[in-house]
Amino acid sequence: MNKRQIYRMRAPASGREALAAAEPGTIYLDRETGEGMEPVAMVLPLAPSASALPRTPDNLRACRRCDQLIGLDVSDCPYCGLRQEALDGG
Ligand SMILES: [Zn+2]
Repeated sequence: MNKRQIYRMRAPASGREALAAAEPGTIYLDRETGEGMEPVAMVLPLAPSASALPRTPDNLRACRRCDQLIGLDVSDCPYCGLRQEALDGG
């Protein structure tokens, strides 16, 4: 079970963004510029979740029945409940 929520962090001055498992009350600095970064959005899936994979297009597939985008590592469609096929090895 993944309990750490991933956030999209942004440095206001430069607009640089990064993904990080942020926790409230902690200051995050851009590794290269040293700017303070602010959380601007939570990244799906919301913690706690069985998955730690960010929901990037690479990690998504469309459900055969309802066409909603769901995580590759999700075994049942969260929208219509359809059991998803096992992924080929790899
Ligand atoms: Zn579905």
